[in-house]
Amino acid sequence: MHLTFLQAPTLIQKRIWLFSFIFWITLSSLFTVWRINDEIMEFNTDLSEKALSLHRLVSQRADQHDAHLTGLSALASTNQKPLFGMMTSLSSTIQKFYPRITSIDLVTRSPNNPLEIFSTRQSSLDNLTIQQINKAALAATGPLRIIPKDGYYLLVKRSPNTDAARYGLSLTIDANALLQNDLDFGANSAISLLTPKGASILRIGDASSDGFFPQELKFRQVLGSQSQPLVLEIRKIVTPAGLFPWASSLTFTLFLGFVLFAVNTYWKQLRHAKLAEKRALLRENEARIAQASRINSLGEMASGIAHELTQPLTAILSQSQAGERIAKLKPEETEKIVSVLNAISQQATRAGNILERLRKWSTKSTKGLEQVDLNKVAQDINDLMMADLKEKGIRLKLSLSSTAPIILADAVQIEQVVFNLARNGVEAMERIQNGCLEIDTRMNDGWTVITISDNGTGIPADIRPNLYDPFFTTKTNGMGLGLSLCEGIVERFGGILKVENGKDCGVVSKVSFKLDQSNG
Ligand code: ADP
Repeated sequence: MHLTFLQAPTLIQKRIWLFSFIFWITLSSLFTVWRINDEIMEFNTDLSEKALSLHRLVSQRADQHDAHLTGLSALASTNQKPLFGMMTSLSSTIQKFYPRITSIDLVTRSPNNPLEIFSTRQSSLDNLTIQQINKAALAATGPLRIIPKDGYYLLVKRSPNTDAARYGLSLTIDANALLQNDLDFGANSAISLLTPKGASILRIGDASSDGFFPQELKFRQVLGSQSQPLVLEIRKIVTPAGLFPWASSLTFTLFLGFVLFAVNTYWKQLRHAKLAEKRALLRENEARIAQASRINSLGEMASGIAHELTQPLTAILSQSQAGERIAKLKPEETEKIVSVLNAISQQATRAGNILERLRKWSTKSTKGLEQVDLNKVAQDINDLMMADLKEKGIRLKLSLSSTAPIILADAVQIEQVVFNLARNGVEAMERIQNGCLEIDTRMNDGWTVITISDNGTGIPADIRPNLYDPFFTTKTNGMGLGLSLCEGIVERFGGILKVENGKDCGVVSKVSFKLDQSNG
C-alpha cells in the first residue's frame, strides 16, 4: 500500500500537456517538411521526365542536320563546280520542312581570301561570318564544327570531307526553333542551350532564386547528337512557400491535435476514475486503515513512551528499595512504610495511565456517536505526543477554549484526525529550528473549531489540488492516506476540514463543526 508519488500528478499532467504540445508542433512540422520535400521530389521527377523527352527530341533534331549537310556537300563538291541549281532546290526543300535552318551557305575554303559562292539568304553574308566559316572549314579534320552565336549557331562541314576540301558548307540553326516544344515546365523555369564549353547560345525563360529558402531543380545533359555535343540545361526554382501543402498539413495538424487532446482527456478521466475508486475503497476500509495507521504511529512514539515510562519505574524502584530498608531496619515505623507504599502505588498508577493511553489509542473505535470535548482531545494528543516532541526539540502550545467545545462524533476518530494533522505539522518542522506546534480550540460565530498550526515548510502550490487524494504523498515513507482519512472522518460527522498555508509560514489545519451539529 506504500505508493510514493515524488511528483504531484497535476505537475505530471501539466508536463504531459506540455510534452503533448511540443510533440504536436514537432510532428506537424516534420509532416509539413516531409510533404514539402515530397512535393519537391515530385517536381524533380516531373522535371526529369519532361527534360528527358525534350533532350530526346532536340538530339533527334540535331542528328537530322548531319544528313542535310551530307546531301548538300555531295552537290557542292562531286563535280568540279557546285551544282548550284540542285543545291537551290534541295535547300529550299530542307528549309521548307525544317524552318529552324534559317540559311545554308557555301564559302570557298581559302587561307587568304574566302568567298561566299552560295547562300539562301536575302542579302550577302557579312565578312566576319565568311571568315568564321572558312576558319572552321580549314580547322575541320572530319567532324562538324560549331560556331556559337547569340540565339543561333552555325554548323560547318568541310566539303568534300577530305584534306583536299574546297569549301566550307554551313547551316545556320535557330536555337529557339531547335528547342521549341509543347512541354510545360511551369513558372520560374529556364531552358538553355550551351556550347560544350558552357557558353550560352540561348536561354528561354527565367529561373530567379528570389524568395525564402529557394530550391534549385536542375537537368543538364549533353545532346545525343555526335556532331553537335551541345548542352541542354533546364533549371527550375521552387520555394517552400509556393509548395506549402496547406490542405494536407492542416488536416494532419488538426487530426493529430485532436488525437492528442482525446488521449490526454481520456488519461485525465481515467485518473479521476481511479481516484474515485481509491476513495471509495478507502471509505470502505476506513475503520481498518485508521486502526492500522494508529498502530503504525505507536512505533513512531515508542522511544518517547519508553522515556516517559522510565520515570515512574525508576521512582517505583527507588521507593521499593527505601521501603525494604525501613522494613528491615525499623519494622516498627509502619507510618513510613505506608507512605512509601503510597508513593509506589502513585507511580504505578502513573505508569498504568501511560499504558492505558496507549491501549486506548491502539484499540478499534466502537462507540459511535458520543459527546466529544475538543479540549480533552487536544489535551490527550498533547499527552501522547509530548515525549516525542521533546525529543525532536519541538514546542507544543495548547490554547484551549474556556467554554467546553463539545461536538457529537466518535472520540477516537476525532483524536485520530487531530493526531494526523499534528503529525503532518511535526514532520514539516523536522528540519527547521524553533519548531512550534499549536493546538487551539474555540467556539466562534456558531462554529466549534479545533486548529492545528505549525511553522514548517508549508505546502507548495503545485501539490495543493492533490492534497486530499488517497495515496498522494511527497514523503519517501509516507502513505498518503492521512489527509484523505481526516477529510472522510470530518465530513462523516458533518464537519469541514481546511488545510491551508499559514500567513507567514507553515500550515494551518482547521476542523470546524457547526454548533447545531455539535452539542455545544
Ligand atoms: P502523508 O503524510 O503520508 O504524506 P497526508 O495525506 O497526510 O499523507 O499528506 C499528504 C501530503 O500533504 C504530504 O505528503 C505533504 O506533502 C503535504 N502536507 C500535509 N500536511 C502538511 C503540513 N502541515 N506541512 C507541509 N506539507 C503538508
